[in-house]
Amino acid sequence: MTEALNYEMPKAYEPGKVEQKWYQFWLEKRYFEPKIDPKKKPFVIIMPPPNVTGELHIGHALTAILEDIMTRWHRMKGEPTLWLPGVDHAGIAAQVVVEQLLAEEGLTRHQLGRERFIERMWQWADQCRGTIAQQHQRLGVSCDWSRERFTLDEGPSRAVRTVFVRLYEKGLIYRGERIINWCPRCATALSDLEVDHKEISGHLWYVRYPLAEGNQFITVATTRPETILGDTAVAVNPDDERFKAMVGKEAILPAVNRVIPIVADEAVDPSFGTGAVKITPAHDPVDFEVAQRQGLSLVNILNPDATMNENAGPYVGLDRFACRQAILSDLEKDGLLIKVEPYAHSVGHCQRCQTVIEPIASKQWFVKMTPLAKPAIDAVLDGRITIIPERFTKVYHNWMENIRDWCISRQLWWGHRIPVWYCQECGELTVTIEDAKACSHCGSAKIEQDPDVLDTWFSSALWAHSTLGWPDDTEDLRYFYPTTVMETGYDILFFWVARMIMMGLEDTGDIPFRNVYLHGLIRDEKGEKMSKIKGNVLNPLETLEKYGTDALRLALSMGTSPGNDIKLTPSRLEAGRNFANKLWNATRFVVRSIEPDRTNMKIQWGSLPVEDRWILSRLSRTISSVTNLMEGFQFGEAQRQIHDFLWGEFCDWYIEFTKIRLRLAGEAPSPIPVLVYVLETSLRLLHPYMPFVTEELWQHLKHRLPSGWAATESIMVAAYPEVEDKVIDPQAERVMESVIEIIRSIRNARAQYKVESRQWVEAQIYSNQLTSAIIPYSQTIQTLARARPVTFPGSRQEAPPQENALVIVLKESEVIIPMESMIDLEAERKRLQDEIEKSQAEVVRLEARLNNEDFLTKAPAAVIDKERQKLYSLTDKLERLKQQILEF
Ligand SMILES: [Zn+2]
Ligand SMILES: [Zn+2]
Repeated sequence: MTEALNYEMPKAYEPGKVEQKWYQFWLEKRYFEPKIDPKKKPFVIIMPPPNVTGELHIGHALTAILEDIMTRWHRMKGEPTLWLPGVDHAGIAAQVVVEQLLAEEGLTRHQLGRERFIERMWQWADQCRGTIAQQHQRLGVSCDWSRERFTLDEGPSRAVRTVFVRLYEKGLIYRGERIINWCPRCATALSDLEVDHKEISGHLWYVRYPLAEGNQFITVATTRPETILGDTAVAVNPDDERFKAMVGKEAILPAVNRVIPIVADEAVDPSFGTGAVKITPAHDPVDFEVAQRQGLSLVNILNPDATMNENAGPYVGLDRFACRQAILSDLEKDGLLIKVEPYAHSVGHCQRCQTVIEPIASKQWFVKMTPLAKPAIDAVLDGRITIIPERFTKVYHNWMENIRDWCISRQLWWGHRIPVWYCQECGELTVTIEDAKACSHCGSAKIEQDPDVLDTWFSSALWAHSTLGWPDDTEDLRYFYPTTVMETGYDILFFWVARMIMMGLEDTGDIPFRNVYLHGLIRDEKGEKMSKIKGNVLNPLETLEKYGTDALRLALSMGTSPGNDIKLTPSRLEAGRNFANKLWNATRFVVRSIEPDRTNMKIQWGSLPVEDRWILSRLSRTISSVTNLMEGFQFGEAQRQIHDFLWGEFCDWYIEFTKIRLRLAGEAPSPIPVLVYVLETSLRLLHPYMPFVTEELWQHLKHRLPSGWAATESIMVAAYPEVEDKVIDPQAERVMESVIEIIRSIRNARAQYKVESRQWVEAQIYSNQLTSAIIPYSQTIQTLARARPVTFPGSRQEAPPQENALVIVLKESEVIIPMESMIDLEAERKRLQDEIEKSQAEVVRLEARLNNEDFLTKAPAAVIDKERQKLYSLTDKLERLKQQILEF
């Protein structure tokens, strides 16, 4: 493979040519696969499995890049490192996509039948998985593809069944009739988490129900008049004096003329509406509970597609919203609708398709959560699991402490089918891991499997252990579990992270991971969340085609810190690309400098010039700081410091210093060994962020180095740089910082006075105690600041006063630049003189005007005021001009 590398370095970096080549090389060398070593503690990340619903978006790219940074870093530190990739079958989301594809062929899943539909799903899912893996590889991710898992694979599927059966046997999974969230479009139950609550400005309709006897009415208020058809009672608070006499009597339900009781129940809030409320137990969670207490019957009025069913009397067949209009106009006709008020209230919408959810009483499977939540709360409380950033710990506890039972059955075909068989002979349930052949109670073969599948998140909840082989006792599970970091977006803390903690503890007795790192969301330049609807989405593939993968990786990790949203802008992507180019050019310079002199690579530690000691010291400090930051999950700041060191110190200064030294060869020791050392070390420091360009450059460098340098085959398996305290040299840093400051100040002065580049300026430098250390850099200052002559006149106190000179006061030095070395004094004096005369004339004119009675009486106050302001500022300017000309 290395033979294939063209060792001629092209002028410019072309990411496209390099990326594919190195990714294949890494794969062939099987660097991504960890070696199990019982003596070492492994570093493990289980990748959040993207949905198998098509392409990766920029949020997936952020996840992948952050995890790859951690993975590459730990691998270079010599830890057995596993990053396990996977894909989620994505229940509803995936089924919806394939149903849409079928619809284009004029087919429904019911026409196809369950078996053939599942075949279609698999074909499509396999294709998407291929695309997702390819896209991940383009991002440079170093995950272990040999361990890739899909939630519907045999292993994870057996884990799902095992957990279901165990929890069922423990009484933690049960089947019951509850009010669940029903999406009429997806035709399935949803968990509470899959429902988005939106504030809607609706109406509150007041409807009177006639009493069965006499001619009185009782008035109720409702936001969903169509549910009147499902009422089985009217309830009032037992302490409400207004209704005391009515309790125990009966009312007649309008439209369907059903007789319903008037009951007293504590749950009724006397201040809502009229104080009397309609009870629709099949379509409201509170009413459902009232009905349980009062022994009321349930009347379901909806078909699964939210049209009205046979219980809706004359409205049967109507859509729920059409029914609402029809029933309102009938009530009005009958004089039963007495008032309408605007009313803002929260309405649940399906998170997948945004259809309005119907609460419906339905027989579903649930997980009893409170017993599972307890150990999961403790694991975070006692610090076995750390949530980063810390503020999400509170959010986690709040949710866990108020957790409700989890509805896990879905009326879908795509997913893990519920392992429950119903016996047609004895009516009992058979719940087993293996497919049942006969009823476990009576032995009858007349059994039928539950048609439903499990919520996708049920299998995701097992992901940290099922991917490692659980329920089997595998080597992977023993070695890699508990994992080290769960890195994901803060938006799925409850959906996924919390459930993994609960199920991990329940199934294995141990936490699934030690750290939860929550990254933020990606926003555009205006700070808006990226979404297809807004059209501000960046496609990761297009982005990396245009800028290169490393540029995208740098842009996405720039400024990132736990829990905080990041902005992805074109200027960041450009900055990433520019940085890759900067490194390319720097390496090209080093590589070309090595050529004639490649044998002498030993650093002469005892006799290094100050600038060598400075850059080595700065490198070591950068390594130290970066390591601390990475350990604290501050990947954005660590990246900034590597970038600033490489660009701001190494490329902009050290390389420039060495160019001068190389030109003056013979006088000082060759800078090449240090140049190579710092570059090679920095490339390793940067590698986790920009794997492709660093590998390419490192290989170019390695090819030119004697053996012993860069001993590994690839930078990705080379050691991560370590701090070397012995090279920390505060005095060298102090001297070189002063030299840089002096050069920079002269450059700034030149820019300020627009001195042409070919012109030399004169500089006198006073550096007190540092003078003797800086004097050897006078040649450097001359070359880099275009200053000649550069003199060090001794003590500033004893120096004669300077006229016509620019005095620049720096941290440890003073730089004095005679003005005449920057500008033509005669011309400047003439320019000032002209300016003074012009201003003088204007002042005279303004003064005359402001002394003119006629002007003062006729002009509007604002105009006079403006003229006065003008005069003030002109007078001030004139003073300053006169001062300036005096200084000449
Ligand atoms: Zn839906
Ligand atoms: Zn049976």
